[in-house]
Amino acid sequence: MAYSEPSHSHPPHKANQKNLHNLSRTHSRASNTSSHRTTTETENLSPEELQHLRRVEMIRKRQQEKWRQERRRRLIREHKVQFLAGSVLFVFLLILAFVLIPGMLSSSKSSKKQKEEAAQIVKAGLYEDKNGTKYQESDGSFCKNDWREVDGSKYYFNKDGYMTTGWLELDGKEYFFDENGKYDSTKHRPMVALTFDDGPGRFTDKLLDCLEENNAKATFFMLGENVERFPDVVKRMHDSGMELGNHSYDHTTLTTLSENDILKQITKTNNVIDDACGVPADVMRPPGGNYNTTVSSLAEMPIITWSIDTRDWATRNADNTYKVIMDDVEDGSIVLMHDIHESSIEASLRLIPDLVEKGFRLVTIRQMAEQKGIDLSNGDVYSFFGNMNTNETDK
Ligand SMILES: [Zn+2]
Repeated sequence: MAYSEPSHSHPPHKANQKNLHNLSRTHSRASNTSSHRTTTETENLSPEELQHLRRVEMIRKRQQEKWRQERRRRLIREHKVQFLAGSVLFVFLLILAFVLIPGMLSSSKSSKKQKEEAAQIVKAGLYEDKNGTKYQESDGSFCKNDWREVDGSKYYFNKDGYMTTGWLELDGKEYFFDENGKYDSTKHRPMVALTFDDGPGRFTDKLLDCLEENNAKATFFMLGENVERFPDVVKRMHDSGMELGNHSYDHTTLTTLSENDILKQITKTNNVIDDACGVPADVMRPPGGNYNTTVSSLAEMPIITWSIDTRDWATRNADNTYKVIMDDVEDGSIVLMHDIHESSIEASLRLIPDLVEKGFRLVTIRQMAEQKGIDLSNGDVYSFFGNMNTNETDK
């Protein structure tokens, strides 16, 4: 059989197929002169001729199969390239969709946020709304329960964020803010420290009711022996913010006692006060206001006397007690009364609301000292916290 096989790289085209057919015909003619043989004709062929025809046909089929496979591989190769290119493009589009675009969006968002924040920083400061003035922080929130300084003036903003005007009491200290909310450090309500000695007694609860109703504070210089009789009253005093004072155990004049006995009077009293309410006294008033260097050094507390002596224990007259106080009271006064006398309680129930009405702030000894910027020292004697020109001399 003589024919040259076509190159593998070339698919069988029509010309080649024609040649093959011609070849098969040539072979057929070589053995048979008829160019169009029928099935009946092939049946007439000799076995050799038939075998030859079959072989030629087989070779032709093999060749066609080879070309088909070649073509398929080539198509696959071409498709592979296209598939790869498509895949790369698809992956790129995916990256664009899921990474780049959201990134661009978020970056534009964050730049928008930065712009807003920058705008808010500019806006930080005082803001008016229908309920008052607030202070907006640079982060957009509002200042609450705190101070802020604007243009050299201090302002305080309450729990709802609104600016305070008028009087404000914070941690026992009082502050004044003018009608524009500016803190005025020069203004203070006049203060008075009411003090009650020799108790507690059976009227003390009534006095505490009145003090609590008027948001007023007072200081109680108590005898240890009476603390033991009325421990619940002492507890109530402490719980309602009154100041606890030591007035000796049994009212013995301390200057007549030995050091040891002075210490016993002071220590025993503080122990029973501590037993009653959990804390000892933190100020001391010796009975009769009588002290010497021994007493003051042993007290280990500030010694508090008074600037207004009502002599309530002598007059037992409520009107008189009331009048003495209302006539003499001034900013910084320390008023001496005794809560064991009913007349003194009667006077107090009238003068406490009236003092508040007159603009006085009723405070404890320590509140007064703190507001006045005075550090109380143990063993030092204090009788007045107002203008020293009118200070009564210590006894
Ligand atoms: Zn006394």
